[in-house]
Amino acid sequence: MLQLSYNLGSLQEIDSCLQDVGLQQHASRSRSTLVQIFASRIDPQQVPGLHRRIASCMPRAVVAGITTAGEIHEGESVIRRIVVVFSFFETSELQLVSYGCEPEKEREVGRRLVDAIRSEQAAAPIKGIQLYATTQRMNAAGLLEDLQHRLAEIPVFGAGASAYHNHGEAWIFAGEKVYEEGVAAVVFRGKELEIEAYPCLGWEPLSRAMTVTEIESPTVLKTLDHIPAAHVYEKYLGIQNDDNFFKNMLEFPLMLKRGTAALARVPLIRRANGSLQMVADLHVGEQVRITYGNPKHIIEAAYDLQQKLTEFRPQGILIYSCYCRQVYLQEGLNLETQGFRQIAPSAGFYTYGEFYGQGEELVLHNATMVAVGMREGTPADPLISKEPEQARLSQSEPMEMTARLARFVGVVVEELEQANRELQEMMQADGLTGIYNRRKMDELLGEAIDSGESLSVALLDIDWFKRINDTYGHLCGDEVLKRTAAILREDVCGAGEAGRWGGEEFLLLLPNTKADEAAAIAERIRVTMEQTDFGAPGSVTASFGVTAAVPGEEIRQLLKRADEALYSAKHSGRNRVVLF
Ligand code: GH3
Ligand code: MG
Ligand code: MG
Repeated sequence: MLQLSYNLGSLQEIDSCLQDVGLQQHASRSRSTLVQIFASRIDPQQVPGLHRRIASCMPRAVVAGITTAGEIHEGESVIRRIVVVFSFFETSELQLVSYGCEPEKEREVGRRLVDAIRSEQAAAPIKGIQLYATTQRMNAAGLLEDLQHRLAEIPVFGAGASAYHNHGEAWIFAGEKVYEEGVAAVVFRGKELEIEAYPCLGWEPLSRAMTVTEIESPTVLKTLDHIPAAHVYEKYLGIQNDDNFFKNMLEFPLMLKRGTAALARVPLIRRANGSLQMVADLHVGEQVRITYGNPKHIIEAAYDLQQKLTEFRPQGILIYSCYCRQVYLQEGLNLETQGFRQIAPSAGFYTYGEFYGQGEELVLHNATMVAVGMREGTPADPLISKEPEQARLSQSEPMEMTARLARFVGVVVEELEQANRELQEMMQADGLTGIYNRRKMDELLGEAIDSGESLSVALLDIDWFKRINDTYGHLCGDEVLKRTAAILREDVCGAGEAGRWGGEEFLLLLPNTKADEAAAIAERIRVTMEQTDFGAPGSVTASFGVTAAVPGEEIRQLLKRADEALYSAKHSGRNRVVLF
C-alpha cells in the first residue's frame, strides 16, 4: 500500500496532480485506488466533472469526499485548503456504497448499506469500513444499528461532514454523487490488508453528574435535571445565546459513559426554547457531566494514540479530528497531529462527529480524534526509526492557572458528590439495624403502588418484645432487633425490600408477588426466626400480617389491612402468619 496526499488551494489544482505520470503509474499497477478529497469549500456542481477527470486518468479509482472544518496534511493542520489523498492498494479491494438519507430514514438506510456490503461477491475478508455521513442532519445512531449487529466483527471509522461555522455547507460525495443528506461507505477488503483504528478524547469531567430528563428527538436535548439544557450552560458557564454560542459550547462538551466507552456530546445549536441540537444522540436517563479540556491532557492523549499507531507500523494514516479540538487547541493544534508525520504518510480533516468502534461499541463520537492506520503485508519500516518525540505544549501561566482551577472544581465536585451519596444513604437507613428506615419504605411503597404492578406486603412484629427488654436489658433488645434485620435482609433478598417500620415492627415489600406467595415468604421467615439462637433470650418469635395491594387503592388502605391481619395473628396465639 502507498498513500500520497496533496495540499491544494483549489479543485482545479487536482488536475495537475492527475497529470503526474508517476501517480498514474501507481494507479495502473495497483489492484485498487482510493481517491479522497477533504475540502473546506467546494461547489457541489463541480463534483461530477471532477469525478470524470479522475476517472479518465484512473479508471478504476474509487472516489469519496467530504466537506471539512479544516484539513490535516502530513502532520500539520491547515485551514481552507483542499487535501487530496491517493491510497494505492496492491492486493486489496474497495467497494463504495452510498445513499441519500432523509431524517427518520437512518435505520432503513443503514440496513440497505449493510445489505449492499454483504451482497458484494468478494473472496477477500472485510477488514474495515470507512463511513462518511452528513451527521448534523440526521441521527447517525440509527444508521449504525445494522452495522453494529450484522457486521459486528468489522471495525468502522469515519466522520461527519462539517463546514466552517456554516452547517448548511456540509456534504459528502461518493463517485459523482453529492449528498446534502446522505452516507457513503468505503469497504476495505483484503487478505493481506491490516487496519487498526484508535480514538483519543482527553476532555475531563468538571460538573456534577446531571440526568438527561427529556429529549425532543435523539439529537435534540431538552432538559438536564428538568432544566432546559441551554440554561444549564448559562448557569454554570455563563454561555449566552450570542454569536459566540457555538464556539463557546465547543469548549465544554458533555460527557457520559455508555457501555465501557466514555463519550463526548457536543451541542451544535441553541434553540429558542432552551433545547440544544446535538451532533450525536443522547438517551433519557443517561448521566452527563459538563467537561473541561485541559490542552496538555488532550495532547498527551493524542501522543498515546500515536504510540499505538507507531507499534502497528502502518503504510498510511487517515485522521478524523473533531472541530471542537481545532477551536479549542488553537495555536497548539499542530501538537496533536505533528506526531503522525513520524509514523507514516497521513492526511485527514476536522469533523462534526467521528465514527469509531465495532459491534455494540460502534458509535458516533464527539470531541474525539480517530486515527486509522492501514498496511498491506508485513509492517512498514517506521519513517523515523527512533521513538516519536512527545509534543509538548508550553503552558502559559494563565493556562496553568485555569487548569488548576478546573482541577479544584473537579475535586470539590467529587467531594460533594461523595458527601451527598453518604447523606442519601444515611437518610434512608435505620440507625440501629442498617436496613431501610420508614421514610425510605414509604418512598418505595409509593413507587411500587404508582407502577401499577402487583404487590404484596407483610408486617412483622416481634412477640413479647417488651419482656426481652425488661428481662435482659435494652441492649439485648437492640441485639434482637439487629439479628431480626439481618434475617430479613437475607431472606427477603431478591424477592423485595425489608425495612424497619418502627419499634420492633418491620415491613416487607414484595413486588410482583401474589398474596399466597407473600404468605409463603413470611412463613419461611417465621420459621427461621423461631429456629435462630438469639443469645440470652434464646428463641424469639414474630407474628406476621400479609396482604396484597388492590389496584387503585391508597397506601393507607393497604397498610390498614396488613395491620388488621397482624392484630389477628397476635390474638390467635402469636408466632404465626395471617393472610388478610
Ligand atoms: P406483642 O407480642 O404484643 O407485640 O408484645 P410486645 O412486648 O412485643 O409489644 P409492645 O408494643 O408492648 O412492646 C414493644 C417494645 O419495644 C416497647 C419498646 O420499649 C420497645 N422498643 C421500641 N424500640 C426499641 C428499640 O429500638 N430498642 C429496644 N431495645 N426496644 C425498643
Ligand atoms: Mg409492636
Ligand atoms: Mg411486639
